Amino acid sequence: MNLKDTIRSIRDYPKPGIIFRDITTLLGNPRAFRQSVDELVQPYAGTGVEKVAGIEARGFILGGAVAHQLSAGFVPIRKKGKLPHETVSIAYSLEYGVDQMEIHRDAVLAGEKVILCDDLIATGGTACAAAQLLRNLGAEVVAACFVIDLPDLGGAAKLRGMDVPVRALVEFE
Ligand code: IMP
Repeated sequence: MNLKDTIRSIRDYPKPGIIFRDITTLLGNPRAFRQSVDELVQPYAGTGVEKVAGIEARGFILGGAVAHQLSAGFVPIRKKGKLPHETVSIAYSLEYGVDQMEIHRDAVLAGEKVILCDDLIATGGTACAAAQLLRNLGAEVVAACFVIDLPDLGGAAKLRGMDVPVRALVEFE
């Protein structure tokens, strides 16, 4: 099925002029959700991926399913202050100002093969920071996968510039 048709576009959310790509309609469609996870997993089956890191919050939904399919562990990358044990953090730019994301220091081991997963890549600020965070712990970021890429915003190119292979199932202008 055409996954793009199952994604809802909402005009002027969260503010005027923005078209928000809403994957809740894809997630709620049994065939579309299964197909998305199958397509995300397909290139990495049998490649020895040890962990899937999901970016809060929609990256948890997809990343958890991808990790299960790959028989890999799941690692949450969260907004500051949400993880209970010892963390390492990284600052990243938002449209207005900066924020920080965190990972448990012991969540990945040096040399582990990790896939990064989120619903959407736009400017790439979030995903590049997450990839750097994983590298700071010594992980090998073998790929980053998304349901949606907005190529005009340059995020996928930025991530590829960090030598992280990028995979996205659908593109929107
Ligand atoms: P970036 O850092 O500019 O690449 O933005 C990507 C992050 O913002 C991801 O964690 C997305 O979940 C979220 N995001 C940005 N735009 C959208 C959208 O249109 N739909 C859903 N999530 C979005």
